[in-house]
Amino acid sequence: MSATEQLSIRVEPTQQSRLSQVDFNNLVFGKIMSDHMLVAEYNDGEWIDVSILPYGDLTVNPSMSALHYGQAIFEGIKGYKFADGTVSIFRPEKNWERFNKSASRLQMPEVPEEIFLGGLKKLLDVDRNWVPSKEGTSLYIRPFMFATEAALGVHPSISYKFIIITCPVGAYYSKPISLKVETHYTRAAEGGVGFSKNAGNYALSLYPTKLANDEGYDQIMWTDANEHRYIEEAGTANLIFRIGDTIITPHGDTILHGVTRRTIMELAEKWGYKAEQRKVSVQELIDGIENGTVSEAFAAGTAATITHISRIGFEGRDYTLPPVEGREFSNKVLSYLNDLRYGKIEDPFGWNYIV
Ligand SMILES: *Cc1c(COP(=O)(O)O)cnc(C)c1O
Repeated sequence: MSATEQLSIRVEPTQQSRLSQVDFNNLVFGKIMSDHMLVAEYNDGEWIDVSILPYGDLTVNPSMSALHYGQAIFEGIKGYKFADGTVSIFRPEKNWERFNKSASRLQMPEVPEEIFLGGLKKLLDVDRNWVPSKEGTSLYIRPFMFATEAALGVHPSISYKFIIITCPVGAYYSKPISLKVETHYTRAAEGGVGFSKNAGNYALSLYPTKLANDEGYDQIMWTDANEHRYIEEAGTANLIFRIGDTIITPHGDTILHGVTRRTIMELAEKWGYKAEQRKVSVQELIDGIENGTVSEAFAAGTAATITHISRIGFEGRDYTLPPVEGREFSNKVLSYLNDLRYGKIEDPFGWNYIV
């Protein structure tokens, strides 16, 4: 189907909704899936079918190339319900753009807007009742794509599946976390795939993270592959610091360009803070904690929005950050974004995408 042709999304509704069986007061992240999923098939240069189907198993061929050579990418987005019942998705156009950047880097086809955003809108419309309404809760949205060609030769697959699944998630109370500065293992190198949201970036992080957990840290603080001198990001979220009166986040193609990070930096500028994207060395951070100029440090991502950092371990020593209550900027961002996402305040930036 060409981009100009009218795309039709077929809907096959479930015969038996599982909604009434769900205990919305006890949601475990990522375990209970909504009734429907969007499945789009790509073959030999074109998207050939887009359907909304009852959520369920897929059959795969054992020689399917994603399983062997890792052409697999994903996104993470959240949808919210306003007090009046309106369903809204937070900045999904940014996820769509990033998804297609990940796709090109892995020699996968781009997903057109009508399928990614149009499909998402239609899916959330069908499963509108799955978007929880209690303060703090949301619908987690997981678009993903993988190579389906049944062939063991190493080459770009000719066929792919693009799927969107969703799941209601409970209120996220994020406790402050401790990070270990990683000076041996590497997440991403320049010219590599650090900026893309591909499945392999997570596989490689599991072992070093386990070692950090064994030492009593919640997550890793990744550093650059060349010298392990510059800070990159946390395990699954970007890092933002307040040093003096400046809000600073590391930049470059070895980090994932988070929508939350971007949103927070845009807010910082709007609110009149100095906001910088630049290299931050581990030494600058450690010195700043010791001399009191680092007043805030947090991880930013879709799951928790902001996760405060309480302690950083570097070369066998621990550095403790100031108490969370006094962190003016990050607490302000958190409450502002909560109000915006639940439709309690005006949306001057057009960040809410209404279904
Ligand atoms: C998804 C992700 C983030 C956060 O991105 P958001 O768009 O803010 O959710 C940060 N780092 C990594 C490695 C990620 O995969």
